[in-house]
Amino acid sequence: MKDNFGRTINYARISLTDRCNLRCRYCMPEEGIQKFSHRDILRFEEIGRVIKILQKLGVKKFRFTGGEPFVRKGAIDFFEKLNFPFNITTNLTAPGLDIGRINRLNLESINVSCDSLNAEKYRYITRWGDLNIFLENFRKLNVKNIKLNVLAIKNFNEDEIADFIKFALEFNVTVRFIEKMDFIDDGLEFMSLSPVKKRLISQGIIEKRPLLGKNSVAVYHRIKNSKAKVGFIAPESESFCAKCDKIRIQATGDVKLCLFDRRSYSAKKLLRGGFSDEEIQKWFEKILKNKKFAPSEKKGATSIAALGG
Ligand code: SAM
Repeated sequence: MKDNFGRTINYARISLTDRCNLRCRYCMPEEGIQKFSHRDILRFEEIGRVIKILQKLGVKKFRFTGGEPFVRKGAIDFFEKLNFPFNITTNLTAPGLDIGRINRLNLESINVSCDSLNAEKYRYITRWGDLNIFLENFRKLNVKNIKLNVLAIKNFNEDEIADFIKFALEFNVTVRFIEKMDFIDDGLEFMSLSPVKKRLISQGIIEKRPLLGKNSVAVYHRIKNSKAKVGFIAPESESFCAKCDKIRIQATGDVKLCLFDRRSYSAKKLLRGGFSDEEIQKWFEKILKNKKFAPSEKKGATSIAALGG
């Protein structure tokens, strides 16, 4: 399916829940979060139906996120039933997480979030997270394509760039540094990734030439003399609207066409309103015409916590 700017939309990020076991400072406030009830969020069968409709429309890549996807009861059973390769973004620390079952899923990739390799700092940024739990689960993870998501924050983890690269080499995974988008007043300092990239190139740590790859918002560079990669996701310093190929579906069934667009479109109303798959398919095609390019409104757009990154 194509939008009005000729962008092919082939990627859907689906949030399984708005709830999370952590409260990362840049993502969710500690208190006062609107919690949706079970009835408000899409049932797994409804998510399955949306997936089928989107597949008919040519969506090829699905990523499940949250909140924290694994805090939703039945998430792992739902994943086990999916009959196509898919992707998950997780903090890897949900209580009762069964890494053995995750390892057996039909995963294309798993993105795991960790913003510090220092236990105290990890606790600070997540408000109460335990780095040991993350590391224990991470070591057990045995999935082909693992990416470590690190939100870059000035005066917080800028001194850990080298540690993260060492970590990527040790476990042969991709580490991705992400620029913070300003959704809530978190008091954390933005850190531009362009000087970080330049420095890593001039120090001979990563290859100068970016890897040619898929139409991804991340730009990847090989770590010298290794197979491991470093990725940079810089929504603030490099606009990537032209490359945008995705839509987001919140746990409530609200479809968001752009992170920076306040509007959303309720798929739940149609799913529960007696509409056929064909009608819902047409509806998706119609709303897609409203997908924006380089929107100006930024701060205060829907919280990333609800959108799942
Ligand atoms: N709970 C899961 C996790 O931690 O990976 C999935 C949801 S989380 C919202 C997904 C990703 O969004 C994380 O990697 C996180 O770093 C990123 N994220 C959250 N808030 C952000 C912000 N303000 N700017 C940029 N990325 C953000």
